[in-house]
Amino acid sequence: MLPQIEGLLVLQDRDRRIGTLATQLEKLPTDEARAKSKLKSDTEAVETAKRAIQENEMEIKKVELDVETRKTSITRLKTQQFETRKNDEYSALGHEIERYGKEVDTLETQELELMESGDELRSTLKTATEALAKTTRLVDEDLKSIKERFQNVETDLEETRAERKQLADAADPEILHLYERLLKTKNGLAVAPVSNGQCGGCHVRLIPATLIKVQSEKEVAQCENCSRILYIEP
Ligand SMILES: [Zn+2]
Repeated sequence: MLPQIEGLLVLQDRDRRIGTLATQLEKLPTDEARAKSKLKSDTEAVETAKRAIQENEMEIKKVELDVETRKTSITRLKTQQFETRKNDEYSALGHEIERYGKEVDTLETQELELMESGDELRSTLKTATEALAKTTRLVDEDLKSIKERFQNVETDLEETRAERKQLADAADPEILHLYERLLKTKNGLAVAPVSNGQCGGCHVRLIPATLIKVQSEKEVAQCENCSRILYIEP
């Protein structure tokens, strides 16, 4: 094989590696976001449970206040009843006291029910908090390994770029220029092998003159269809 071609093949290998590594680096923010998104539903569950507990506590306070108001009314009505001398007023006040008494019963039953719901809500919050803690640990591990992978890729990329520079510096400037132009326009494959008389890049059959030129390995031959630099696989 022509030494220039040999050099270009190594260069092409490094260039393709640089491309792969760079793509991996670009994916990092997406990988991180995907890992973090796992926390979203668990965090929401904890917040929902906390809100439900707050609402429940507010409802209990409201019921307690309602009970208190009615009990104050009952005390006031009882004083009035004690002070009256009219029979009909006495019994009217009695009815009102009874009505408030029933309302207090209903409200106290409501309060008990709300307290029971409160217990359930606190147990829901406990479960949700535990689930969030577990997910957080897993996500932290994920993020750690993503970061490690990122650092490895970065190091690898730096080394490959340095190696690439050395190879490019050592290459024939004219051939290098041709190679770099082809690499950009030919989807990262500037140097292609010939197989069964076809160009390994565009798969078009080579004309005999080109085939002979490649096989002679005396000068750089290009595919007459796609312009890729050709070589015979040893
Ligand atoms: Zn071709």
